[in-house]
Amino acid sequence: MKNKKALIIGGGIAGLCTGVYLRRAGFDTEILEMHTLAGGLATAWTRKGYTFENCVHWLVGSKPGADMNAQWKEVFDIDRLLFHNDDVYEVIEKDGDRMTVFQNVDRLEREWLDKAPGDAAAIREFSGLVRKLSRFRTNPGDSLIDRLKFLAGVIPFLPTLGRYSKLTMGKFALKFKHPLLREFFGVGLSDLSFLAIAFALAWMTNRNAGYPIGGSPIIIGLIEERYKSLGGKIRFGARVEKIVVENGRAAGVLLAGGERLSADIVVSAADGHATIFDMLEGKYVSDKINKIYATYKRFPSYVQVSLGVAADFKKEPPFLYTTPVKTIEIDPETRRDSLSIRIFNFDPTFAPAGKTALVAFFTTTNDEYWVALRQNDRNKYEAEKSRIAAEVITAVEARFPAAAGKVEVADVATPATVVRYTGNWRGSMEGWLMTPASGIKQLPSVLPGLKNFYMVGQWISPGGGLPSGLLTGRNVTRRICKDFGLPWKAN
Ligand SMILES: Cc1cc2nc3c(=O)[nH]c(=O)nc-3n(C[C@H](O)[C@H](O)[C@H](O)COP(=O)(O)OP(=O)(O)OC[C@H]3O[C@@H](n4cnc5c(N)ncnc54)[C@H](O)[C@@H]3O)c2cc1C
Repeated sequence: MKNKKALIIGGGIAGLCTGVYLRRAGFDTEILEMHTLAGGLATAWTRKGYTFENCVHWLVGSKPGADMNAQWKEVFDIDRLLFHNDDVYEVIEKDGDRMTVFQNVDRLEREWLDKAPGDAAAIREFSGLVRKLSRFRTNPGDSLIDRLKFLAGVIPFLPTLGRYSKLTMGKFALKFKHPLLREFFGVGLSDLSFLAIAFALAWMTNRNAGYPIGGSPIIIGLIEERYKSLGGKIRFGARVEKIVVENGRAAGVLLAGGERLSADIVVSAADGHATIFDMLEGKYVSDKINKIYATYKRFPSYVQVSLGVAADFKKEPPFLYTTPVKTIEIDPETRRDSLSIRIFNFDPTFAPAGKTALVAFFTTTNDEYWVALRQNDRNKYEAEKSRIAAEVITAVEARFPAAAGKVEVADVATPATVVRYTGNWRGSMEGWLMTPASGIKQLPSVLPGLKNFYMVGQWISPGGGLPSGLLTGRNVTRRICKDFGLPWKAN
């Protein structure tokens, strides 16, 4: 019997993982990716010998045998990655004061109690929660017995999860008097669910959130390799404009340029808003979906300033939150008195010996300004990027005098870059923010009134992240197998 044909829109991590699972399920698969390479947000770029990472700080599942590790093995050979597990997650400094966020919860607790004894109750509450969540298993497994065991294991955690799921980072920050701890929890994504940071630290203390040397391209390259080795096809420079619907079923897609491709099923691993409201013209929505798109909070967009510096930052932390010498104006609505810098001294593949790639990151919700500026005034757009780069270089040189005059490369990515290269709605960095309102519940992967169509990726999984790409692709493929009476094969 002839295989059924699946078209997958988007070759980010979700599209690639879905491709792997659908190939195993026996579909002929073709991923349609508008860019010239796979990865979407999970990407990095190279300038004059320096590599600048856009995404990965950590990969949940890095530890053999721990949560998510077995699932990653289904889509690529994770054992080929070399993981770096730093002792330090971040150093926060301000007004001569300094606090370290250790990855190990016991060290973190000791450091914070030492530096902020007046906050002992809140510190113990946080470290106690991290310890508790480090015992929480997130893998339900496939068989009924595995699922029942998982549910039995979850029950003792329900009161804790219920209590903290209503709390945001910003609200928890108010429990602290020490200004640095207030900044750690309260600055940045203050609407983010407090459980997000507690889980992140729990994975870190378990050594299950390592950084893969080589960054995003290494992970993406290995998944793409697995997908192709299974016979999956990927076509680059293929932008989908419309999803073709015939008699209530997705029947194919229309590419920019007019080419029409037919399929038995269509899976969108692209931006959720563009999929539902542009490619499908908003014809297949429910009140629930409209409400989500009207009310859920998104992760913001960002300006990323990447610097290649001919200096050795070996003694510096991997991630530094500091104060610039003067306020940095990112755009007319966004001014920053803090500077978050990733110092890639732990990844030797990112810079020539003795040199270092640095990445400064600023969130902004003023994406429309950046997109319009690039479109309407290219000279001013470039000038603004140069201005921001110069301000960041001044701040970096003031903080690290050894770097003065040694910046060899400066590269600025704006929300317009994010939109152009990934198509994410409003340049969002990670889709839906996980908030008390959204919770962790997945959004529908199918749309009302439309058969043979499915959605995967960060826009159906609040909180986003690389694991959501795999898990949504896995869950949706199981559902497709059920819909088409095919056996489900994870491996
Ligand atoms: C700064 C930053 C830090 C992050 N840190 C981490 C981290 O440490 N750990 C972690 O797990 N996650 C992290 N993330 C989140 C993670 O990168 C994303 O959640 C994940 O990569 C999203 O994958 P996706 O496949 O769902 O979507 P995307 O990566 O957005 O992929 C969508 C793909 O679809 C393509 N596409 C869009 N529209 C079309 C169309 N019309 N036709 C054809 N193709 C189309 C795009 O080009 C893109 O390749 C981070 C993200 C950012 C931005």
